Amino acid sequence: MSVNITFLGGAGTVTGSKYLLRHEGKCLLLDCGLFQGYKLLRLRNWTPLPIAPDQIDAVLLTHAHLDHSGYLPVLAKEGFKGHVYASAGTRDLCRILLPDSGHIQEEDAAFANRHGFSKHAPALPLYTRQDALDCLHLLKAVDEGVTFQPIPGWRVTFSTAGHILGASSVLLEVAGRRILFSGDLGRTDDLIMNPPAKAPLADTVLIESTYGDREHPKEDVLAELGPALKKLAKRGGVAVVPVFAVGRAQALLHAIHLLKLRGDIPHSLPVFLDSPMAVHTTHLFEHHLGEHRLSSPQTRALTHSATMINSTDESRALASRHGPMVILSASGMATGGRVLHHLALYAGDHRNMIILTGFQAPGTRGATLASGAKSVRIHGRDVELNAEVVQLQSASAHADAPQLLAWLRSMPQAPNQVYVVHGELNAADELRKRIKHQLGWRAMVPEHGSTWPT
Ligand SMILES: [Zn+2]
Repeated sequence: MSVNITFLGGAGTVTGSKYLLRHEGKCLLLDCGLFQGYKLLRLRNWTPLPIAPDQIDAVLLTHAHLDHSGYLPVLAKEGFKGHVYASAGTRDLCRILLPDSGHIQEEDAAFANRHGFSKHAPALPLYTRQDALDCLHLLKAVDEGVTFQPIPGWRVTFSTAGHILGASSVLLEVAGRRILFSGDLGRTDDLIMNPPAKAPLADTVLIESTYGDREHPKEDVLAELGPALKKLAKRGGVAVVPVFAVGRAQALLHAIHLLKLRGDIPHSLPVFLDSPMAVHTTHLFEHHLGEHRLSSPQTRALTHSATMINSTDESRALASRHGPMVILSASGMATGGRVLHHLALYAGDHRNMIILTGFQAPGTRGATLASGAKSVRIHGRDVELNAEVVQLQSASAHADAPQLLAWLRSMPQAPNQVYVVHGELNAADELRKRIKHQLGWRAMVPEHGSTWPT
């Protein structure tokens, strides 16, 4: 009996990561991500899965980013009763991220209803903060390198993927098959995260391809960010930095801290972290020493490197401050959250700066900002874009094409089949070609919804 894989998300796109594995009537869901970006993709969040959630025996999460975990509250609401296995870091981050995701969806729905710009009356949230809180008890922490059985006879081992706190690659052994999923792989040279572990022996590999068609520049983030912030400080502008609350916020804080220590930017340049979630996550780094590169004093320095903004009143008060200053705020692709208010306020002035720090999925506001557009739509109105847009090429939390290939090469033996997932079509196909030509391995980009035997 074969083990079947169905690609329910993260196939031909970077969002909605969801892979269903079936064998002899048992079902395991690998990642449970939310679709983000294009409306066509977001609508998939409202389409029922081809399997009833109560028929799924267990869920494994590679990491806490919403495109890998954000569908969990829906799954639980619709009847999933099994365990959700994840690293302790991922579990802790999900406790922060998922309720916030529910909260944002409630706020967006309420905002759309108040201002009447939703085509649906009334606009409903996909799930609420309470739905998210209700699913958290399903999370079960597992240690990296320790094999466990989420379903009797299905052996699972997590290993370090780098990327963000708690991020893991997953090896699944069932019915004599060895199936390896890379999860989101970090870079080997990340400022704060450890490099990904070597890939173990497997017959089938699912590899992410966010940057499957690109090579990161040789210069580091300090060399890119330093001159930009120096220029900003000189002209007295405000830099709005959309950041993922988890991962990029901490990496950017650390980079700014280092730039100040080196004297590359004024020590007095005010920095604000306006995201309660990011503030919370920054403190989590202290509880997970050893799972990242920062020492205990460096973690403490991280929490003191910016003014931490928690309440909405404090956030609003920022509007009355004058530049120069740097405001880091979520979400990272400007799809929602407090960063929208800052963008609406500061995008119109050419002295200001918008600094994009990572991959901007097509269809997101971040992608619009990166495209050189003259205006951007925020809360139902067009906001003129005069601020300088700086896109940091080196601040990515993902491995680039050569690093993805290096991870594959670290396998003790060639697998039978590689599925290239979690990338836009172009990036995924480019990585597929590199795997075929440089490694001589069988690789394909699976279609959304397709099922393949292993
Ligand atoms: Zn991720």
